[in-house]
Amino acid sequence: MSSRELKARIIEVGASQGFHDIKVASTEAMHEDLATYQAWLDKGYAADMAYLKRDPARRVHPAMSAPQARSVLILKVPYTSTCQAPPDDRVWGRVARYAVGLDYHEIIRARLERLCEALCILPASARAATDDLALYEQALARRHGAGFIGKNSLLIGPKMSGSYHFIAELFVDLELEPDTEYVGTCGSCFRCGTACPTDAIVDSGTVDSNLCISYLTIENKYGIDPALRARLGDWAFGCDICQEVCPYNSQIARLDATSAEQRVWPELRPEAGVGHYLDLLGLIALPDDESYRRMVGKSPLRRPKRRGLTRNALVVLGNWLGGRAASEADRSRWHEEIVEAIGTYIMQDRESMLLEHALWALAQAGERGDDRASDLIAGFDRARLEPDDRDRADSYFGIDG
Ligand code: SF4
Ligand code: SF4
Repeated sequence: MSSRELKARIIEVGASQGFHDIKVASTEAMHEDLATYQAWLDKGYAADMAYLKRDPARRVHPAMSAPQARSVLILKVPYTSTCQAPPDDRVWGRVARYAVGLDYHEIIRARLERLCEALCILPASARAATDDLALYEQALARRHGAGFIGKNSLLIGPKMSGSYHFIAELFVDLELEPDTEYVGTCGSCFRCGTACPTDAIVDSGTVDSNLCISYLTIENKYGIDPALRARLGDWAFGCDICQEVCPYNSQIARLDATSAEQRVWPELRPEAGVGHYLDLLGLIALPDDESYRRMVGKSPLRRPKRRGLTRNALVVLGNWLGGRAASEADRSRWHEEIVEAIGTYIMQDRESMLLEHALWALAQAGERGDDRASDLIAGFDRARLEPDDRDRADSYFGIDG
């Protein structure tokens, strides 16, 4: 079989296994991309994600991840799904589309193994990855025809295939002809930057993770800056705003929404995981970690752990109370119940950081003239807070400076 026939056969088998838009990349070092990546790091845009800062030179050199490999297959796995109207039987927070089903790492890895079997590639001679390897995936994908990097820093695929997809790689010891770069552009569009609620899209086309809701609600291990909390709106896990407003994604919604959703693997659909809406009051009332594990199952929501997700829930509950999430009718319907639930939450033994977030949430209701919320804050023993949280919370207690 010639190299060209082999490549066509791989694409055919990959497609039969549910992968899309399969491209072949070389394992050559991407020297030109190192400067871009390093500049992003130097500006501090990686926030405290230490794994992104380790060994940038390795990230731009695919061969260092799999020395035996001669080529890398770049495979896309779509995850788009229509966000239905919010449920009316609970207080909810939104979940980013990529996370509505089961955790993609395990699901994609299992399918890559099946792909190797179908291609009769011995597992020992292949290496599978999906965002779990020190590799500048987007640069590799961009250089080999899988799309261009939009100003929201996401890979936007050709032929109006948009950005709602995971990228996976399979390093193989086969000599295949690499695909060439796809040239696409955002042109003068900056809708994502204008729509981003935290102004995280900076320098007209790169994302400062310190400000990005995806980082703040998933990878961030600390409290969320009070100045940013209102801007989270109803996002409890991740954020899709810069994808929702992107014309390349709205084209899919207009032209091909049904078939785009049919391409999503069953394991990644909302029915398989937590779905688009998280039950916030259920979450903050959970008695222990075990019940948390049952609630989030094998979904990506495991990542911030119970502590991080509860922190996010308290922020979104504050935004419900402050009129920045849900409709005014829903807010008013659930207002009292939210205040009482947070009141119960702060009575119990909690970590200082979470208590401070809960007090902030109550303060949002207090600012709207809710006496019960103000009483709960006033009755709270400030000595339960660590000094930093106490300083932060002083404004909720009406103590200046
Ligand atoms: S994910 Fe949300 S917060 Fe982050 S850049 Fe996009 S719109 Fe902004
Ligand atoms: S919204 Fe506009 S600027 Fe942003 S990624 Fe999409 S096309 Fe590019």
